[in-house]
Amino acid sequence: MNKPQSITVLGATGSIGKSTLDVLARHPERYRVYALTAYQQDELLFEQCVRFKPSFAVMLDEQAGLRLSGRVRAAGLKTEVLVGVEALEQVAAATEVDAVMAAIVGAAGLRPTLAAARAGKRILLANKETLVMAGRLFMDVVRQSGSPLLPIDSEHNAIFQALPERYTGDMGANGVSKILLTASGGPFRNTSLADLQQVTPEQACAHPNWSMGRKISVDSATMMNKGLEVIEAHWLFNAPADAIQVVVHPQSVIHSMVQYVDGSVLAQLGNPDMRTPIAYGLAYPERIDAGVAPLDLFKIARLDFVAPDFERFPCLELAYRALRAGGTAPALMNAANEVAVEAFLERRISFLDIPRLIAHVLDELPTVVVNVLEDVLSADVQARAAAQAWIARS
Ligand code: NAD
Ligand code: MG
Repeated sequence: MNKPQSITVLGATGSIGKSTLDVLARHPERYRVYALTAYQQDELLFEQCVRFKPSFAVMLDEQAGLRLSGRVRAAGLKTEVLVGVEALEQVAAATEVDAVMAAIVGAAGLRPTLAAARAGKRILLANKETLVMAGRLFMDVVRQSGSPLLPIDSEHNAIFQALPERYTGDMGANGVSKILLTASGGPFRNTSLADLQQVTPEQACAHPNWSMGRKISVDSATMMNKGLEVIEAHWLFNAPADAIQVVVHPQSVIHSMVQYVDGSVLAQLGNPDMRTPIAYGLAYPERIDAGVAPLDLFKIARLDFVAPDFERFPCLELAYRALRAGGTAPALMNAANEVAVEAFLERRISFLDIPRLIAHVLDELPTVVVNVLEDVLSADVQARAAAQAWIARS
């Protein structure tokens, strides 16, 4: 038996983080937890420390870090508690680490994920915002360091599984004609434009098929999540915007498909449970038990497919627009979206203001070429300021 792999889970207290720990706990002989991190949920992180005995626990928030230290000391655990962004980078890049689950939500995930890539770690990428903001830079770092990159987003994991084993990033040479990116359509798939004006954060966070963090739940309701995923697919698989087709598939059983030039379409199916892609990413190229129930096709009985509605879900169009514009446009869009989602969750703007606000930011700010990380970070700051100003005026 090989020595257990050492894993850092960035965003351990979130939806993906908890599912990751669930899979790790099923295979104690294969994996040990090196570090767990969270923003400020010290109570939950402490419970996870008791259970998984990591070498390090990192809190972004300093006060929460102090509380966690106290608890860890009182419990006599050997876990060392650190705080701040540099500490996140440190536990992502440490020599002892084999693989990093990148499951922080939003732009905050970029720096630690990049640190893991620079250090050549196996990266299990859930944080799609990293690729949306800095796709070219991140993929360049991954290529240079030789980091194995495993997509965890269920759609991209499905595409990864349906592509040829040695896919080179050249669709033509591999006989691939299209990526068919499935979308559940979210909780408002059949809601009229008039009714969308009134929807509440509670309704937006009640996803029909998946249980997820609040930010991605709102993204799913606006379909910005699918827009972010189009950009994510572009970078992961080197697919041009025109070769990525969104297909609304309400059952979320097919997690995405790859269409080949000979007419074949390969799909990956499964119950909507993130532990499947997480287990795949952890064990690749092997397969391990994920605790997921087998798919019952007779119970599912039918699979439906419809074209996306760009009128009711303008965020999808905005994402294609940002991808085609290139440069800092996707980073501007991502930042505007994060501000908009937060304002919507705080009831400061309406649901339909989300795409209005993003469109405004994309219209107002210039798109520039990305040469270095600073270009992305400065676009992020400018877009947040422009978005806040729009909210203050509205
Ligand atoms: P979540 O909100 O449930 O959890 C987020 C985690 O990040 C928490 O541990 C939180 O403490 C930490 N965090 C938040 N802000 C932080 C900050 N500023 N600095 C450091 N840590 C911070 O989110 P989630 O649903 O688990 O999603 C995580 C990522 O995975 C997102 O990028 C999301 O798009 C992606 N993703 C999630 C799912 C899903 O099913 N939940 C599916 C596909 C992709
Ligand atoms: Mg997804």
